[in-house]
Amino acid sequence: MNEALSMPTYVVNPPATTSLPVRGTKARFPIRRVYCVGRNYAAHAVEMGHDPNKEPPFFFQKNPDNVIQDSETFPYPSLTNDLHFEIELVVAIGKGGSNITTEKALDHVYGYAVGLDMTRRDLQTEAKNLQRPWEVGKAFERSAPIGEIVRVSEIGHPDKGAIWLDVDGKRRQTGDLNQLIWKVPEVIRHLSALFALAPGDLIMTGTPSGVGAVKKGEVMHGHVDGVGDIKTPVG
Ligand code: MN
Repeated sequence: MNEALSMPTYVVNPPATTSLPVRGTKARFPIRRVYCVGRNYAAHAVEMGHDPNKEPPFFFQKNPDNVIQDSETFPYPSLTNDLHFEIELVVAIGKGGSNITTEKALDHVYGYAVGLDMTRRDLQTEAKNLQRPWEVGKAFERSAPIGEIVRVSEIGHPDKGAIWLDVDGKRRQTGDLNQLIWKVPEVIRHLSALFALAPGDLIMTGTPSGVGAVKKGEVMHGHVDGVGDIKTPVG
């Protein structure tokens, strides 16, 4: 019996695979990695104090097990007094690769979703000021509420249309997918030059302007035209 080929046993319980529902099928989308693009709408870059014109795209990550699905409660996280919402279009990768060209990039997309890049803005700002990494501001428990995945075979590749977020029925963020500085194929090109993409990867593509704080008891409702909605209560 070859030990290497037999099923391993583990000294602690192995972590469960986090996954999201896919519209139109009972099968779920398993999550391998969660990448995020920083400052990808000009108006948001300006509101955060940056010049949007010449900056190449940059990336950070959340943890796969930070993802929660539509209608799940997002518990107000520890050690922040400035919890921000960021509504984003999410790309779900179905086919992996490195150094993917913009021409081939969309062949690697399985589908799209609506997501929230929840941010402990005070901790992120402190990390930026001290030139420290961003995980404490970005990659905390349940910090990535993401709605159902909608397949490319159903909706194609959305590149224009409204993206907005309401909190308790009041419009807080508005934008249009056509305002993305780095479009989805360009994001995939840049990201796949840095990392080997694989099926199960998610890419949160950045947020339009209007980011702000949310409080316990409020309900966030995000929408992207042609993709769908997400409703997330803050608990
Ligand atoms: Mn973001």
